[in-house]
Amino acid sequence: QQDLQAIREAEKLACYQPALMTDGHRVEVVANIGAAQEAEQAVNAGAEGIGLLRTEFLFLNRSEPPSEEEQFSAYSQMTQALNGLPLIVRTLDIGGDKAVPYLNLPAEENPFLGVRGIRLCLQRPDLFKPQLRAIFRASQTGTIKIMFPMIATVEELQAAKKIAEAIRLEVGADPVEIGIMIEVPSAVVMAQELAQEVDFFSIGTNDLTQYALAIDRGHPALAKQADGLHPAVLRLIDQTVQAAKTARKWVGVCGGIAGDPKGAAILTGLGVTELSVSIPSVAAIKAKLRSLSLSETQQLAKRALQCRTAQQVRELE
Ligand code: PEP
Ligand code: MG
Repeated sequence: QQDLQAIREAEKLACYQPALMTDGHRVEVVANIGAAQEAEQAVNAGAEGIGLLRTEFLFLNRSEPPSEEEQFSAYSQMTQALNGLPLIVRTLDIGGDKAVPYLNLPAEENPFLGVRGIRLCLQRPDLFKPQLRAIFRASQTGTIKIMFPMIATVEELQAAKKIAEAIRLEVGADPVEIGIMIEVPSAVVMAQELAQEVDFFSIGTNDLTQYALAIDRGHPALAKQADGLHPAVLRLIDQTVQAAKTARKWVGVCGGIAGDPKGAAILTGLGVTELSVSIPSVAAIKAKLRSLSLSETQQLAKRALQCRTAQQVRELE
């Protein structure tokens, strides 16, 4: 325990240094947050920005949706704390599985396959438009990028972008980078086409694993088997990175495996250049990357892609 504590202390001391690998390759290490005050905590922990702001916190546990003003105030509080560092705001990702009584969503038999994420937002402009207005207004106070969740088709992305552009013009804001989460297998298959339409991808391995392995991510008995380091998931990530590279777009990962040291190494070797992790993992992930070269992680990734099971991947040295 003492040894471990000493390692954590050393990692903390270096947490504001970039994640420069031994051969000079740099990976951006940013944080996932889900509350306004966490932006400051992320910066204090060494995060180089926010790779995923889960905006659901503004909409849950209340009796009516947050106003545009309330959202603007939350987002601009974060840009202030970030002082120029990037903030990727994910638009609302709720659906039939979360209890949001004031939305009056009909009950669904398979909520994870139902009106969730971008599907809900496209059906409910009364939720989507005020959120986009608040985001574009806040984009004038810092570096904001917009990310749409649960994109499964090119049509959904085009529809979301069209609404966002109309709102941007209404607000009179400058263009911002627009990206999507890659968390539905069809988005991986269509990654080449989707890459033409966006500035970046961020792979949501929590949902991508759930949908690729057909295992409910919260299932009491099965969730353990939903391992984001399964070769099936790694091959999907590889495919996504290849498609993005061809279109010269960058790829991040904001699912749980980005915050796992072995996961971070494999993802880097696959060509991912931004890892968005929980606040407490920032220092350790930076330290892990500093101990490796890009070519070492590329070798590791190559071997991981050839594995037959998640366990084999986890056993790789
Ligand atoms: C994911 O699916 O990997 C992700 C980061 O999004 P969330 O966990 O919020 O669904
Ligand atoms: Mg997700």
